[in-house]
Amino acid sequence: MPNQITHIHSSTTGHTVTTEADLLIGGKDYTIYFKSKDALLAASPEAFLSATLLPSMRVGGESLFMEEKVSPLFFDTISNTIQDIYRSWDPTLHRIKINGTAPAEEPTEKERVGTFFSGGVDSFYTLLKKQDEITDIIFVHGFDIRLSDTALRNKTSEKINTIAKRLGKNLIEIETNLRDLLNPYVKWGPLAHGAALATIGHLLSPHFRRIFIPATHTYAELFPWGSHPVLDPLWSTESLKFIHDGCEATRVEKVKLIAQSDIALESLRVCWKNPNGSYNCGQCEKCIRTMINLAANEALERCTTFDSKLNLRLVSKIKAYDDNTRAFIKENLDALRDVKETEQLRRALRNVLRRPVWPYYLKRRIKAESRRLRGK
Ligand SMILES: [Zn+2]
Repeated sequence: MPNQITHIHSSTTGHTVTTEADLLIGGKDYTIYFKSKDALLAASPEAFLSATLLPSMRVGGESLFMEEKVSPLFFDTISNTIQDIYRSWDPTLHRIKINGTAPAEEPTEKERVGTFFSGGVDSFYTLLKKQDEITDIIFVHGFDIRLSDTALRNKTSEKINTIAKRLGKNLIEIETNLRDLLNPYVKWGPLAHGAALATIGHLLSPHFRRIFIPATHTYAELFPWGSHPVLDPLWSTESLKFIHDGCEATRVEKVKLIAQSDIALESLRVCWKNPNGSYNCGQCEKCIRTMINLAANEALERCTTFDSKLNLRLVSKIKAYDDNTRAFIKENLDALRDVKETEQLRRALRNVLRRPVWPYYLKRRIKAESRRLRGK
């Protein structure tokens, strides 16, 4: 059975614009919506093709059918190179043919430049670095914060409104249930989140000529990841360019720029766990790593968004078994060398590096072996 995208349409209720479409994927129906009070969301066929590509590649069914006209450049890349990249990362995905589309007309010139923004280190780095060029901040509810977590949503929304005002940028907030479609088929970090950002970008295509996607990893540590410098530009059309930005800088270097901005230090949001709706718990590994970066840039005391002080016992528990984590610790140790009153932190980090890695690999080997013996 072919997968289908039908009934792409936008409607307005009061100040809220909603764009939605009916999707048939692997014989199941989905209605996926996007809402915003801040911007017109186009009934963009490119958006819904970006959103449905991975689920369609997961279920197979050979084709994805949609009647609307799409950008010829986008049609070519989504039919070919984008699928090649996903299949080299996950060979169990199927190649699918996109049917029923036709080339769109020539686009018009637009002026605005957007950036996706979550309030984290990568987002702030790109926003501050490209401040002169960026006109709009785009924040999506329903991606990293669950739609049901209204307390954290409201707190985050309030902070991001302040950031936009202080930096003189227009803010576009969008709410979507897109993860209801993606989560059953593909993992968010390793595969899906880049396609989800491209979806949002295409919905906003009437407004923007360029949209920045802040990088998570540097050029030196690239591996398959949903948003990637090789993949992200391929979602572009003739009139909207996606730019993967920030691969040139390490976390310490990114935080160095953030440490110069008061508004960033008053609103930085990095926590993945958010226990009890906390903005930054100060206890999880992501919080601890960012606090070390801030200390290395003499900015930890000035950053006001962590619920607790840097706990050296938690620093000493960092698992430094892979090359990226070891490089992260060495880089921070270098940066901390000239920072006063950080002897204890440096000692804790050195101890993490000294801890032998063989017990970890042995344990992993034993686990894999016992799984094999159980026939899994
Ligand atoms: Zn945390």
